[in-house]
Amino acid sequence: MLTVQKATKSTVPRLARRALGRRQLARGLATPSDQPYDAVVIGGGPGGYVAAIKAAQLGLRTACIEKRGSLGGTCLNVGCIPSKAMLNNSHIYHQTRHDLQRRGIDVTDVSLNLPQMLKAKSDAVTTLTKGIEVLFKQNKVDYIKGTASFASPTRITVQLNDGGETEVEAKNVIIATGSEVTPFPGGAIEIDENQIVSSTGALDLQEVPKKMVVIGGGIIGLEMGSVWSRLGAEVTVVEFLGGIGGAGIDEEIAKQFQKILTKQGIKFKLNTKVLAADKQDGKVFVKTESAKGGKEETLEADVVLVAVGRRPVTAGLNLDKIGVEVDGKGRIVIDDQYNTSVKGIRCIGDVTFGPMLAHKAEDEGIAAAEYIQTGHGHVNYGAIPAVVYTHPEVAWVGKTEQELKAAGVQYKLGKFPFLANSRAKTNLDTEGQVKFIVEKETDRILGVHIIGPNAGEMIAEAVVAIEYGASSEDIARTTHAHPTLSEAFREAALQAYAGKAIHF
Ligand SMILES: Cc1cc2nc3c(=O)[nH]c(=O)nc-3n(C[C@H](O)[C@H](O)[C@H](O)COP(=O)(O)OP(=O)(O)OC[C@H]3O[C@@H](n4cnc5c(N)ncnc54)[C@H](O)[C@@H]3O)c2cc1C
Repeated sequence: MLTVQKATKSTVPRLARRALGRRQLARGLATPSDQPYDAVVIGGGPGGYVAAIKAAQLGLRTACIEKRGSLGGTCLNVGCIPSKAMLNNSHIYHQTRHDLQRRGIDVTDVSLNLPQMLKAKSDAVTTLTKGIEVLFKQNKVDYIKGTASFASPTRITVQLNDGGETEVEAKNVIIATGSEVTPFPGGAIEIDENQIVSSTGALDLQEVPKKMVVIGGGIIGLEMGSVWSRLGAEVTVVEFLGGIGGAGIDEEIAKQFQKILTKQGIKFKLNTKVLAADKQDGKVFVKTESAKGGKEETLEADVVLVAVGRRPVTAGLNLDKIGVEVDGKGRIVIDDQYNTSVKGIRCIGDVTFGPMLAHKAEDEGIAAAEYIQTGHGHVNYGAIPAVVYTHPEVAWVGKTEQELKAAGVQYKLGKFPFLANSRAKTNLDTEGQVKFIVEKETDRILGVHIIGPNAGEMIAEAVVAIEYGASSEDIARTTHAHPTLSEAFREAALQAYAGKAIHF
């Protein structure tokens, strides 16, 4: 039930609030029903908006509460979409400057128009976020713009963005409040989104820094580092661990990836701990030491990107008041049907367990809605792909060699380099390889790791294979079109299954 409350402490006068309620009804933002909603979703990111659409498609009367003022969450507003816009366009710029001549294309006077590149990014974001509003209308999801907090397990108070307060009642609630940038540990570095930026600020720099230090060699750090390196910045990535790419990357692929990025001009300082970053005379001085202690160094930068991770968002939800359990890392605790510790309240996406990825959040959104309406849902956590959208791209699904070794699983490998793939050669884009990891005894595919052109699209075939329990022989005996990059995928499977690829 969406009503304007009679007595609130809000500063908005009662009549004005009534008028607001009427305006909302006129715009189709609220329904006049006295009945509680079947489902209310808190958060309009990829997890929340997909859950809301699915719930409505399943016949549930649904509302989605989002405080940002636009739908799509981190992903569409300050994450996946703007970063991919910048990655794509910076790649084209870099390729135009450094790669076209050998392809027989002479271009002169190539220059960067950064304001236009930023505008192209913002336009992509606006089109897509507005598109979700259209989907909400088409699917009859009520979109409530405001900040939600629980008054009880079935009643949610919303501080409306336009002013005033309202309350909704729900038979089922799905919490999808996502994640936010993790501050630098101990508060030693303060993000000002100008000289010391998070990924959000790094997506909106108004000029190309001469020197950029990226703290954290995970996916976000490498993607944003690549963007600004291609646009002309001298980029140094400082990483505490001994390898790049973050959790889940295969160590062999990570090493190859680092070599390729180094060739592109990015510098790496691995096994290195950042202690502080001090602003002075328009510069930032980043103090580091060896991860094991000692060996101090100071790096000078015009801009520092802090990319040390993200943390769940639960502040202000009043979870302790209604008894929703949260673990030591701030994640909402759920069971295998997304139920929290309070009946009728489910939770999905970045704010709970698992990889912080948009497609994982979306799939959980669909499953959570299905559990509410049908009692069944499905997400295979063994088949969630990860992609780094650099050039070449890196993509993987399933187990790494290091995980299988640690678990004592016997496995075989099948590898095929893009250097031996006809399409990659034709495209003059031959860096990287496809690597299959299959169970020794059964030939079942356990993991696929790709570094190379279009790896992010190609990984979908591996995801389907793992989802269906395919063997490497299944892939090796499946016809792949010629000449395509996907032939490298098939040849790697052939190598795993038959011990020998055809073209290598
Ligand atoms: C720079 C960057 C690049 C990324 N690139 C990729 C990528 O290429 N691929 C990929 O899969 N993932 C990527 N991610 C991760 C991806 O963005 C997240 O995994 C995804 O957005 C999580 O979805 P979610 O719905 O769980 O949460 P979010 O997208 O964080 O959405 C949660 C929403 O809830 C709202 N909210 C929070 N509290 C309240 C409240 N009390 N009331 C109302 N609304 C509230 C927030 O405003 C937010 O809009 C990237 C992230 C970043 C930062």
